[in-house]
Amino acid sequence: MAGDDKLRDAGSIAAQVMDGAYKKVKEGARLLEVADYAEALIVEMGARPAFPMNISINERAAHYTPDVGEQTVFEKGDLVKLDIGVHVDGYIGDIARSKAIGGGHKELIAAAEAALENAVSAVKPGVRTNEVGGIVEKTIKDFGLLPVSNLTGHMLTEWNLHGGTVVPNVRTMTGYKFRVGDVFAIEPFSTNGAGRVVDEASAMIFRYLADKPLRMREARTILAYAKENYSTLPFAERWVADLVPRFKLGLALRQLVSSKSLHAYHILRECERGLVAQAEHSIRVTNSGCEILTEE
Ligand code: MN
Ligand code: MN
Repeated sequence: MAGDDKLRDAGSIAAQVMDGAYKKVKEGARLLEVADYAEALIVEMGARPAFPMNISINERAAHYTPDVGEQTVFEKGDLVKLDIGVHVDGYIGDIARSKAIGGGHKELIAAAEAALENAVSAVKPGVRTNEVGGIVEKTIKDFGLLPVSNLTGHMLTEWNLHGGTVVPNVRTMTGYKFRVGDVFAIEPFSTNGAGRVVDEASAMIFRYLADKPLRMREARTILAYAKENYSTLPFAERWVADLVPRFKLGLALRQLVSSKSLHAYHILRECERGLVAQAEHSIRVTNSGCEILTEE
């Protein structure tokens, strides 16, 4: 399969899996059963997860994925962000949607969706990423809400989720000029908080960085497995949990992070604990505009 077809495939599978997962998110359902379902469906469809399914609720904006055996369920009133990544031989599709359990949060969700739609409509060769950021900012502010200024969209390249160049969610001073063939994920976040996220102490998602000397055998086991199986892409703690005795898992991961063998994606929450909604598509720049890749 040519790279072009792999990219389309990854996007289409991501969209189909999102559809299925979105329907499973309801009051009383477990977060873990939704993540397991989505990640298994990706494999069934002949692809691989490009990262663990993110299920971030309320003031958590991103980087939450269920823990091993987690029993947490969706509750009425929850504002849920679902973020799914799929890759076919390193070609990545990245998509996100928001859902309110039992309804509500309509403005927050509509603001993120409208910002995404307006951003996608604006992308074409020669337009700058900071202009798109300005469109996102204005769209969300017109709803009386704020964009999250320190979360951004990002270029997608082979085996690389964050290809260096970003698409801001606010107007910035300078930007990159889109070129034909560029692939980007565009992902506005809207909030009724202050418009910034901060790191929580914990992380459930990690990525291989480098081989380093490690004292703990279990840490070496996890690192070798992560390098072999996930390469440059993120993985979940629960994906490596069965490799080592459970009581050593947390310690091994902490050693891997402190030795800079692994990168930890800390859970991100809104700094004033405002509610956060998100919408995301992966797009490719064409001669006259862009095409959405994460569509069925
Ligand atoms: Mn995403
Ligand atoms: Mn993304």
